[in-house]
Amino acid sequence: MTNVKKKDGKRFGAIVLSLILLLSLVFPYPVMADQTTAADQTTAASVYAIHKTGDDKENFVIVIMGEGYTREQQEQFLKDATAKAQGLLKWSPYKEYSDRINIYAVQTVSNETGVGVMYGESNPDTYFHVQAFGKSCYFAKDGEDKARALRAELESRYLDTGAAVGTIHIICNTTANIGSSSNALFSFSANSGENEQGDVMTHEISHSIGRLGDEYDKKMQGENISDTSDPDKIKWHKMLGFRGIGITAAGTETVFAPSRVCMMRDLGNPFCEVCKMELARRLNNRDYVSRQASVYVCDPEITIPHSRTGTLDRDSDQYRIDETNITKANGKDLEFRTVVQNMVDAKQHLKITFRIIGADHTVKYEKEETYTVPPHSNWYDPDAARESLSVTLPAVTGLVSGDRLEGKIIDEDTGKILADNQTAGQAWSTVTIRYMLQNEDGTETTVPDTAPATVYVPKNSAYTLRSPDLYGYTCVGNSANQGEINITEDRQEITYYYRKNSEMPEIQTVPVRVTYDGKPHTFDIKQEDGVQISYSLTENGSYTQTEMPFYTEAGQYKIYFKAEKASFIPTYGEAVLEIEKASTSMQLTAKNDTVKGAGTVELQLCRQGIPEDAGIKVTCDVSGITLEEKGTDHWMATLPNETKTYTFTASYDGNGNYTGSKADCQVRVTADHSQTGGGSGGSSGGSSGGSSSGGSGGISGGGSSGGSGGSSGGSSGGSSGGGSGENAGGSTDGSSGNVSPDSGTLPAPDHAKEEPGNVTPPPAADTSVSVKDINVKAKTAVKNNTVKVKNIAAVLKKEITKAEKEQGGRIKDLSVEITFDTGKAKNWKNLHLEMDKQAVNLLVKKNVKEWKVNGGNVNLTFDSKALKELKKEMNTAVVIKMKQADKKNLSARAGKIIGKRPVYDFSVTGIKKKQSSVLKKGRIRVAVSYNASKKEKDKKIFAYKIDKHGAAVKIPGSYYDSDTKTVNFVSRGFFTVAVGCEK
Ligand SMILES: [Zn+2]
Repeated sequence: MTNVKKKDGKRFGAIVLSLILLLSLVFPYPVMADQTTAADQTTAASVYAIHKTGDDKENFVIVIMGEGYTREQQEQFLKDATAKAQGLLKWSPYKEYSDRINIYAVQTVSNETGVGVMYGESNPDTYFHVQAFGKSCYFAKDGEDKARALRAELESRYLDTGAAVGTIHIICNTTANIGSSSNALFSFSANSGENEQGDVMTHEISHSIGRLGDEYDKKMQGENISDTSDPDKIKWHKMLGFRGIGITAAGTETVFAPSRVCMMRDLGNPFCEVCKMELARRLNNRDYVSRQASVYVCDPEITIPHSRTGTLDRDSDQYRIDETNITKANGKDLEFRTVVQNMVDAKQHLKITFRIIGADHTVKYEKEETYTVPPHSNWYDPDAARESLSVTLPAVTGLVSGDRLEGKIIDEDTGKILADNQTAGQAWSTVTIRYMLQNEDGTETTVPDTAPATVYVPKNSAYTLRSPDLYGYTCVGNSANQGEINITEDRQEITYYYRKNSEMPEIQTVPVRVTYDGKPHTFDIKQEDGVQISYSLTENGSYTQTEMPFYTEAGQYKIYFKAEKASFIPTYGEAVLEIEKASTSMQLTAKNDTVKGAGTVELQLCRQGIPEDAGIKVTCDVSGITLEEKGTDHWMATLPNETKTYTFTASYDGNGNYTGSKADCQVRVTADHSQTGGGSGGSSGGSSGGSSSGGSGGISGGGSSGGSGGSSGGSSGGSSGGGSGENAGGSTDGSSGNVSPDSGTLPAPDHAKEEPGNVTPPPAADTSVSVKDINVKAKTAVKNNTVKVKNIAAVLKKEITKAEKEQGGRIKDLSVEITFDTGKAKNWKNLHLEMDKQAVNLLVKKNVKEWKVNGGNVNLTFDSKALKELKKEMNTAVVIKMKQADKKNLSARAGKIIGKRPVYDFSVTGIKKKQSSVLKKGRIRVAVSYNASKKEKDKKIFAYKIDKHGAAVKIPGSYYDSDTKTVNFVSRGFFTVAVGCEK
């Protein structure tokens, strides 16, 4: 039944295993995990977490891949990647966001070391086939496809659900001085001397992440390069004069950059304010991070007047005022300023305050301004969501050494201080995060495939411990035993503790096969409590859909899913849905099938399951016979005075959702020699039985009539099986009756054969005479999740009479089942079955042994005594109700026992509102559908009665049947019933 592929969680695994086991003695890197999984590896890569501070979906994910590292050099790759990643995080703004970035190293094995040189003699066999041309690097052959495939696999399998890779940096194993960025996704660097601390990587990855240009080049790209020097039009016009941002030539006289000191101009320099701001914006792009920072605030500065465009980079230091040179401001305007970038699509209300306070705590100057920063609603127009915030104290005087400067940027909505005049000089502490595995034997070891992460945190601030899970491991605590720590030291360490995920969530899928009915259908995937399922329409796609798709049109559909549960290994699987074409059939009947002399013959078509608007063709096997359509499904054929048999054929071609079908009928004309012209003919001798026999199949209509015929045939068993099967044959039945009208009343001999059998049964079969199951698919009305069946007596009577006819008399052990067609309301809340008085009387009169009410999820079976009692006690129409009950009245204990399992209310009421709670005689068998997990089965599942106080009382004798997936018990009463499992 289950169709779950339990792929091992460790999909990225240990290809390079044996060597690393050896090398790990030398290097401080942890060893790869379990050897046992090595055989299942489908990917030639393993993943190493070198900096994971939070959930991958919340953080910006950087992936480093190695190129030209052989199997023997994998440990070196991890060392190189770690060192360069740590180098990157030292630079602002990566430093400020070091808690918002996750970095992974993906190991790929090259057959040969080094990297190719385009048009050069060196062309080693490497994994991505990267080739250098000058300083630039390019993928060759299928290199880029391989890198993209690894990204897809990371996103669908390895990273936390919903996470996307922000960018990929490839470290080439060569000392050549190469490095470049192809686009936002790929950048390259190598093991050159310049890149020892990752400077080249930092520069190149910032091209990719920030889409920044080279500030030494003439190429126009990014927020840091301009083709105009007009201070009002330049991209960074709101930053001019702030922290050394001005206008200076980039590569040529016509291309401009904001600064002469920037990582995007010369390696080893800090990023300029323009680049920092843009990198911050991109690192908080909601396409990649779900937990964005809302606003970026440049480190504020206090200055005396200076040129807006000509005070570049470090020149600005001479205008900057702090408490050590405060007297320099006397007689001048003193400005406190920052620039902010809104990073979310919501307005920001900010306040800027500036005070000068004397040594005696007197406030010498005080001023504030408020700003509303527009929302960042257009990703391509960051300037519109950017604002320069400033307060100027005009011509300050009387400042003396010992005066204190106090400038703040405050979020007015939260009251939080976002930055102040000390921010630029603030001290940073490092928090080193270690990941330790708590083994079952009580020992602790480093979590495999991880390296400690270093996060930068302002000294004397609080750091939130985000306890991220690692792939295959669940975080179970930390060494601080709390969720937040105050960082007071220069260096602090924190250890997160992990347990290895062992179990997989249990998922059951059943292939769904339904017949087209114009309604939407979906897959059958059942999960245990607490499991989250996400879906993908392609096998290696990303599991981004949270709802199962519905399909209406006939066809075969497949869905792939990923099931996750806290501290479980994710499970993958697939489910199928087949919507078969609806089968159709038809009967074509001639009003008169024997005609004397010339005349017209009427043909009538009876459609079964064929859409009303579908065209039907009717033809005659004799040429020259014209058929005239007269109204819906009605034709007239004019036949000549000539002895001949005509076969008329109706056909429906079908379409994507319906099968085609055909029917024919024959008309025999006997020449009337007395006739001279077009006689009226039309003797009335023809049988009209054909059309009514077709109609009997119509209770459940079309395709399903075949199915129900089959099941009743099976249960009745023995000789009667053949008889009922023949009757259920529907379409062929009607036409065959017409084809051979001459053979007389065909059914009669059958009856004759059957009857004697019933009258004189063989002695051995004495006890099992004519058992018969009748299943009535009741016509239902669905409204507001309530499925109603009314006036059932007529249908019941017809079905019982039919069955009796087939059996040739009264049936002894008759069992009657009424099935709600809950397909129309799969998630029904209420089922109402109204049994009219005649229906109850009929069941009692026919001495029905068992009466089953099939409500889909709930089945009630009344025995004959219960039925009689029902009749006696009610003496009126009876309404049987099943209702999905509310759980809010459950007691706390009952709530624990029942959990998410179903609760139903049953009641039986007379139409005069008389309610029965307990029948005096008889038994009612109750079966409640429930798909129990393996765990639950082990603990045992029972049915519980919910009393009026909301307490759950175990029903004695109740049990779970894992074959039928039902919880069963026998009762005489009607009450609230729940499925429960005690811990
Ligand atoms: Zn720059």
